[in-house]
Amino acid sequence: MLHVSHVTKKYGKTVACRDLCFHLEPGSVTVLLGPNGAGKSTIMKSIIGFLRYEGEILVAGYPNKSVEARRIMGYVPELPSLYPNLTVYEHMEFLARAYKLTDYKDRIEELLARFELDDKKKKFGDELSKGMQQKLNLCLGLLPDPQMLMMDEPMIGLDPHAIKELKNCIEEMRQRGKTMLISTHIIDSVDMLWDRALIMQEGEIKANVTRGELERSGKTLEEMFFEVTENLSREDMSHPAPADAEAQE
Ligand code: ADP
Repeated sequence: MLHVSHVTKKYGKTVACRDLCFHLEPGSVTVLLGPNGAGKSTIMKSIIGFLRYEGEILVAGYPNKSVEARRIMGYVPELPSLYPNLTVYEHMEFLARAYKLTDYKDRIEELLARFELDDKKKKFGDELSKGMQQKLNLCLGLLPDPQMLMMDEPMIGLDPHAIKELKNCIEEMRQRGKTMLISTHIIDSVDMLWDRALIMQEGEIKANVTRGELERSGKTLEEMFFEVTENLSREDMSHPAPADAEAQE
């Protein structure tokens, strides 16, 4: 579904993504893990077509900036960019029209109810709390029901109900054959959801494993994350280093 080949993105002298290569299987959920500054947002913004980069990105065989690819992809940005003078409902309607959706009213109602925004329909963008803005951001990303959806840190700022609902949505979309790429720096938040995990650090992919491969290695995702990003083995994690042990005494 998605093929990223030798993608490098530099901001001035900073290399945010270095020669990245990976692909997403159709109908799979891939989590993109990495510490802050690893390059997760940059590769997502490159895929969706917001940034210039070196290399090639194909979506279902189409160049990512083509009309065909844009019809397939959806994106939930990390930070919502809402219009202060549009209401919650108007945001949803505006997006539905921009995507030329038909019969969208029931879907708007369903999404707003699921994320507990149905009693906020008439509130303006700048009257919403941060969490509500985050939930509207998600509803806007989910509304077009794209074949491939990327979500950048979607759990941040959500209350437990919304996190549960988002996980349900991801599972439902997977069952309907959608392809998803979800970035996070909170490993716990993606437990049980993923088919493939990519671990990024300093602009590079340091690990690319399927769930089956990880299970066969006998490691947890967290163990692999720290092994890859901090060069820690399981023994290091279960037994503090001597200096740490002294500090704890
Ligand atoms: P992540 O999403 O994993 O936290 P980012 O993709 O946001 O990482 O950032 C990767 C690197 O690129 C970081 O070093 C960050 O400082 C840098 N960076 C991101 N956006 C910009 C920008 N607009 N201008 C300059 N540097 C940027």
